[in-house]
Amino acid sequence: MALLWSVLQWCFTALICLFTILAVDLYTRKKSRFHTTRSLLEMYLVEVVAAILGTIKSRQMKKDLDNFLPVQEQFVLRQIRANENTQYGRDHQFGRIHSLADFRRLHPVTTYSHYAEYVERAENGDVNAILGKSKLVMMACSSGTTGKSKHIPISSEVQNTMLSMLAGLFTFQPQIKSAHRPLYKEMQILCRPRWRYSPTGIPIGPLSGYFTNKSILLAQWSTPFEAHVVDTEAEAMYVSLLFGIRDRNLCRIEGGFASGLYNMLMFIETNWRDLVADVRSGRLKEGLDLTEEQRRVITKYLVADPQRADELENEFNKGFDGILSRIFPNLEAVSALSSGTSMALYKKKCLPYLGNVDLVSLVYGSSEAFMGINVRSAREEPAYALIPSMALVEFLPVDATGTPLEGATPLLATEVKVGELYEPVITNWSGFYRYRLGDVVKVVDFYHQAPCVDFQFRAGQMLNVHMEKLSEEAFIAALQTAAGRWSGTTLLDFTSAESVLDPSPRPGAPYYLVFLELEKGEVTAEQLKTIDEVLCEQHFVYKSFRVKDSIAPMKVMTVKPGTFKAFRQFQFDTTTAFMGQFKQPRVLRNPKQVEFFMKHVNSQ
Ligand code: AMP
Repeated sequence: MALLWSVLQWCFTALICLFTILAVDLYTRKKSRFHTTRSLLEMYLVEVVAAILGTIKSRQMKKDLDNFLPVQEQFVLRQIRANENTQYGRDHQFGRIHSLADFRRLHPVTTYSHYAEYVERAENGDVNAILGKSKLVMMACSSGTTGKSKHIPISSEVQNTMLSMLAGLFTFQPQIKSAHRPLYKEMQILCRPRWRYSPTGIPIGPLSGYFTNKSILLAQWSTPFEAHVVDTEAEAMYVSLLFGIRDRNLCRIEGGFASGLYNMLMFIETNWRDLVADVRSGRLKEGLDLTEEQRRVITKYLVADPQRADELENEFNKGFDGILSRIFPNLEAVSALSSGTSMALYKKKCLPYLGNVDLVSLVYGSSEAFMGINVRSAREEPAYALIPSMALVEFLPVDATGTPLEGATPLLATEVKVGELYEPVITNWSGFYRYRLGDVVKVVDFYHQAPCVDFQFRAGQMLNVHMEKLSEEAFIAALQTAAGRWSGTTLLDFTSAESVLDPSPRPGAPYYLVFLELEKGEVTAEQLKTIDEVLCEQHFVYKSFRVKDSIAPMKVMTVKPGTFKAFRQFQFDTTTAFMGQFKQPRVLRNPKQVEFFMKHVNSQ
């Protein structure tokens, strides 16, 4: 009894000590003045838990990286055993699978259509069609910018994935830890997802929506949780930026994809006068499409700050070069997923705004699975080390257009070569097995036993009017070279299509349709022709078909200012795509999308 009593006393003293240490730590840390008591405590709690879990898990992760293939096998067998008694497991004889080798021998390589029926059954209440031991928490919608949106079952194991990612960030990105040291706020455009529900009430929406429903996970953002009430893009942009720019101690900006970051910067450049006026007055400008209630809740968290408004005005008046580090002197990093050809243009355009702050691209992942974490510093090209406990990744060898090499079958991580291109074929927590992701990645390095990849482009994003199979990369290279030769104007954005989608086609050989948005000035018809000429210089196959007139000259059109922005809204209104996930398709495959651009072409 005496022993029990002294143990209890010891535990009590230890607890008091722990609380005292935490209280002193919290008290002495620098903090944002825009925290509410709740957001400060929540953010601190998340920091402490993340630091503890991150440290514990990162040890495990380092071991896993040295044991890559066995951990991958464990991952697969865990999925197989958990889902053995589902309809899918029975249909695919999971009972016969006892090793990674069995799995790869018995299970076919798949695409989304293979799962569509099982997913539909799960949405209609028969979760056991696809998920056995796990709970179905939501259906994640993949972006849908390149076709019909896919629904990916998100199981309760999403927390495991989050933990692995956290551990990975702690292991490889020490700046993440230090970025969180002062309890300063971070900025992100927060737009409430418009959830849809399956007939049995399962939420359908973007995966990020899962994390933005919980106040504790939003405590670090500059938009207060309570003011996270806006579900239209333009209004969410304005409100998030207002809460962001008023805080000179902001420590990080999360841009989503590089294209999202670019839109954010453009919005600041166009709307800074209104934003500054609202910082000055502590009010929200008229003319925003908000309900009275939304306006009331948001305004509750605004305070008039003429001093900050003067400071901002002064900096904006100096121009936008290096603006972020000028208006946020404590900014440590800006993060945005910026790998690959389609983000390269945006990344380049964002950099001048950043000043001395780095642009970091932290992870490689998708709604289907988080896969890799960037192990390189921000100044180098990304190398996303694959984390073996997140998903089994096999590698289908592909050519420069993303087409699988003849007779090729998916390889294991131990069989890939640095410098080669592959399409990831993944097995995930969602009940998808050996699923072709549709991305093309390059293996750029190895980290311990883990291959490090860099995302290149989406397979299928290529122009192919006469079997020339022009990759997106080749097209962008030619376009950029040509645009570099034009003076007095800058290329802002572009997309293309094959002439089969031209609503008023030219008779004869097929050709490419190209839509360009230019920053200022105009280009002459002669200048526009240089894109075709440069492509001929740089692409032998294209040239050979052009010379033979098997492919006709490109039809290049400039579109009105703001067209690409309006296109994002058009996609949002007409498809199930979610704004945060939007990626500008570089090759349009849908006649309605082509019609949209045609309507916005400048008159000649
Ligand atoms: P979603 O499933 O709609 O969220 O989009 C996921 C897709 O975004 C991936 O399949 C890739 O095509 C692309 N992606 C993922 N990570 C990156 C990255 N680090 N840089 C650029 N694009 C990425």
